[in-house]
Amino acid sequence: MSLVVQKYGGSSVADGEKIMNVARRIAKTSENGNQVVVVVSAMGDTTDDLIKLAYNVCENPSSRELDVLLSTGEIVSSTLLAMALKSLGAKSISLTGAQAGIRTDNSYSKARITNIDPRRVVRELEKGNIVIVAGFQGMNEEMDTTTLGRGGSDTTAVALAVSLEADKCEIYTDVAGVYTADPRIVSQAKKLDEIGYEEMLEMSTYGANVMHPRAVELGQIYNIPILVASSFLESPGTLIHGGIPMEGRNRVTGIAQDLNVAKVTIVGVPDKPGIAATIFERLANAGISVDTIVQNASIENITDLTFTIAKSDLAPATEIVKPIASEIGARDCIFDPTVGKVSIIGTGIQTSPGYAARMFTTLSQEGINIMLISTSEIRITCIIKEDKVKDAVRALHRAFELEQA
Ligand code: ADP
Ligand code: ASP
Ligand code: MG
Repeated sequence: MSLVVQKYGGSSVADGEKIMNVARRIAKTSENGNQVVVVVSAMGDTTDDLIKLAYNVCENPSSRELDVLLSTGEIVSSTLLAMALKSLGAKSISLTGAQAGIRTDNSYSKARITNIDPRRVVRELEKGNIVIVAGFQGMNEEMDTTTLGRGGSDTTAVALAVSLEADKCEIYTDVAGVYTADPRIVSQAKKLDEIGYEEMLEMSTYGANVMHPRAVELGQIYNIPILVASSFLESPGTLIHGGIPMEGRNRVTGIAQDLNVAKVTIVGVPDKPGIAATIFERLANAGISVDTIVQNASIENITDLTFTIAKSDLAPATEIVKPIASEIGARDCIFDPTVGKVSIIGTGIQTSPGYAARMFTTLSQEGINIMLISTSEIRITCIIKEDKVKDAVRALHRAFELEQA
């Protein structure tokens, strides 16, 4: 008997009819002789609606209360799915993240899973139950509820697959798999049959929200192949795995975009040791990740320091950066929330020259100004104006001939 972990995203369980559709698919997997653990997201836009509710009653909601509130979305869908399965005659039980043994650190709203105690899930499987686990949540040492960051149910699924030593980990969503670009932006985007962990990790970290980056990272660390496929169609999907043949490796695989970006510039910074350390240490202590850091060459010992953060971190970052800027004697700081990122990703970038040139030429032909550039071995990212991001994605998809992938 195989053990299968399946995850169904928010749009796949958006209403009663869709929950019944998902329940039928799960029941079929179980009838085919598999043990099944299901991770489920909150219905449709529930998480966004809960966030709005919180901000309706409070300008600055407590992160602890917010995490408990958001975790309820997944609890609603998991209980409904368990009921739907029972109505089909299948034995099923729902568990919260805490009941499923998911333990996390204390970083509310972006907690990391520290450990999973799978005993309860295993017991329920042994009783013949299909186990439905509420995604996106866990419990910290204080027994408080934490959430794993937007899109975090994918990570719940892969972490459970690791902990249960599952035979399969399947992520079901509202598209047929991983595409060469977001199919909602590029209508000619092509579904990939397979993609390597490294490329998928760069894609999702730089905005392809079809997979939560931490889920891909766990898949890579524990070498668990992850299937991404449609919860509405019977189609083969995309397999994320580590054994991609060399032939598939020498090109750009995909384009990603991210609109959750803000740019911070500290102007007129004295160029002396310790300044960058002070700024980035305090941001890190507040759990704010910094990306794309650029420091200009200094003129008369004065320089400018620019970096990007998630737009959703802009308010706390402003509170941290402003006092440091005056402490260090900087002239000014500028916060720009109107930027976005566009990235080309592919293992070919590391071995063949010319990709950067083609990217920059394409953007310039579209009249798009590049503000900042960052690279990894297999990725080139440009920070551009937010309202140009979609045009940039389409132009780059054409320039790298990805519609012929
Ligand atoms: P779920 O609710 O199932 O977790 P998400 O909305 O988180 O679904 O992720 C699926 C969405 O990811 C798709 O609807 C698509 O718009 C978006 N997406 C972004 N980039 C890609 C890509 N490269 N391939 C497929 N989907 C992508
Ligand atoms: N419901 C959460 C979100 O909307 C988690 C998830 O869907 O994976 O981000
Ligand atoms: Mg998702």
